[in-house]
Amino acid sequence: MKAFSKAWINKFLITPVSFNTLSDAFTSHRMINKNGKYSDFLLYLLQYFLNVEGTVRLKDRNGFITGAAQGIGRSIAMGMAREGANVAIADINIESAEETAREIKKLGVNSFAIKLDVSSQEDIAKAFSTFTEKLGPVDILVNNAGITRDTLLMRMKEEDWDAVININLKGTFLCSKEAIKLMAKQRQGKIISISSVVAFMGNPGQANYSASKAGLIGLTKTIAKEYAGRGIRANAVAPGFIQTAMTEALSDKVKDEMKKAIPLGTFGTAEDVTNAVIFLSSAEADYITGQVIHVNGGMYM
Ligand code: NAP
Repeated sequence: MKAFSKAWINKFLITPVSFNTLSDAFTSHRMINKNGKYSDFLLYLLQYFLNVEGTVRLKDRNGFITGAAQGIGRSIAMGMAREGANVAIADINIESAEETAREIKKLGVNSFAIKLDVSSQEDIAKAFSTFTEKLGPVDILVNNAGITRDTLLMRMKEEDWDAVININLKGTFLCSKEAIKLMAKQRQGKIISISSVVAFMGNPGQANYSASKAGLIGLTKTIAKEYAGRGIRANAVAPGFIQTAMTEALSDKVKDEMKKAIPLGTFGTAEDVTNAVIFLSSAEADYITGQVIHVNGGMYM
């Protein structure tokens, strides 16, 4: 990383991007990956600088990403923008969403923040109306917003259960319904919902969260069957343990124990999840619907 000075980078810049954006690309695109290899990054640089038509997979597509102000959602939004998509950063935290949208605009695509609580039908209707006014068709919906309220089942309060189900599962239902109204008219669209490995394995302390994420799988398969005839594809991505604010709160002891359960031996990154979402959003995945891509280092097979 240090070998690439700002002056060196500016010398090669042919598109108006800031050093911060590029520096973000350095770290987010695994320039220094877990094996210390640089090959992914060099390929990325070539693609980035040349900016040749055809090298980006989502050129002029419009994406609506929930919970995109930070963490995995932010990474998905940045990744989709690098692939040429315009992206709406729909999040309950409007200040962070605006900051993310500002960063994304530097990549030369259209991006804006929308304040949205995914458990509110009213917010969702308004958000999609703003989206279509500003961008037009909704090509991609990523249902990413999610929360946890962890505790053992016997201690779990009804409000902990309701909060998690309302945001993670009902939120996905409401956003998908609104997007499908528009996608069905367009006769095309991609819906990608972020589930979790715990939907398949269960996890002590996460009865509400595991149930919400398992529910997403049934919902995804049903959407896939009901709307395939309208050209809508619905898939899910099920991440394992990913390094974000959500997992940062865990103690080192718990993290070490978790790593032992992962055959690849490390936590994943937000970019690992982003790569799967971009693939499912792209034309490369047009014959894939009703599926789940597991991004978990092998902890569940
Ligand atoms: P995160 O860092 O907590 O980000 C989630 C974002 O969603 C935050 O900006 C949050 O805002 C926002 N949000 C919360 N409630 C919302 C609502 N009602 N409406 C709209 N936005 C809302 O989480 P993450 O780790 O990136 O996780 C993203 C998704 O991946 C989640 O669905 C999560 O369940 C799933 N996932 C994560 C992991 C992991 O290891 N991190 C593993 C498997 C699956 P506030 O910060 O203001 O609440």
